[in-house]
Amino acid sequence: MNQDLQQHIVKAARKVAEFGFVASYDGNISLRSSDGIYITATRTLKAETTIDDVCLIDLNGKFLAGKRTSSTEADMHLFIYRERLDVNGIVHTHPPCATAFAAARQALDAAVFPEVILDIGAVPLAPYATPSTTEVAESLRPFISWANAILLANHGVVVLGSDVFEALHRTEKLEHAAKTLIAARSLGGAVALTRKEVDYLYETHQDVERRGDLADSGKMNGKVSAEKLVCHSCDEKTDQDRRKEIVRKILAKL
Ligand SMILES: [Zn+2]
Repeated sequence: MNQDLQQHIVKAARKVAEFGFVASYDGNISLRSSDGIYITATRTLKAETTIDDVCLIDLNGKFLAGKRTSSTEADMHLFIYRERLDVNGIVHTHPPCATAFAAARQALDAAVFPEVILDIGAVPLAPYATPSTTEVAESLRPFISWANAILLANHGVVVLGSDVFEALHRTEKLEHAAKTLIAARSLGGAVALTRKEVDYLYETHQDVERRGDLADSGKMNGKVSAEKLVCHSCDEKTDQDRRKEIVRKILAKL
C-alpha cells in the first residue's frame, strides 16, 4: 500500500472529527488511485485514525490489503466511483446542520451562496435507505450523474471531489452554508439569486467551474447541477411586468 495515500485518508478522517462532522465511529472516507480504492476500516474512531485503519479494495469490493475490514458503506463508495470517472475522493459524514436538512427531508438546492453554487452546485436529497445496505447506493442513482454532494434522508451527506481533499473542503463549505441558512430562517429566510444572476455568475467564473481538472463529463455535470438550482423568481416577474407595462402603453396610444 502507498503510505502517502493512506496518510491522505488519515488526515481527512481526523479533520472531519476535528470539525465535528462525525460522532465517534460515524462516517467513512475513501480515495481512488491506480492501486485501487483506499478506504477507512469499519468502526474507525475518526479522531484517532492511523494508517492501520486504512485498507485497500478493488472496484468490485475485493479486499486487497490492510490490517482491518473495510467500511460497511464501501458499496456506496464503489457505486460512486463506477458511475463518476471524474471523482477520485469521497467523504461521507453526519455534519449537524447539513444533516438537519436531511432529517427535515429538505434538499440544499436553493441558489443562495455564489461560492457554494460554483464549487458544489445544487445538493439534492436522496430518499431514505437503510445504512450499510445496498439500498444506499441505489438511493443515489437518480442524482449521481450530476451532483457533487447528496443529502441522505435521516442520515447525513456524501460529498464527492476530484480528490479526497476537494471532497473534504466541499463538506466544510456545505456545512457552513447549511448553518447560515438555518440562522437566516430566524430572519425570515434566505433570498435566493435569480436565474439571471446565476447565469451571470457562471459566465464570469468559467475558470472556477473548471477547477478540479474535471473530465468533459464533469463539466457537463456542472451545467446540469446549475440547472437544478432553485432560483428567486422576483426579477423575472418584474421584467415580465415591465414588458407587459410597455405593451399596455403602446396599445393605449394606438
Ligand atoms: Zn453514515
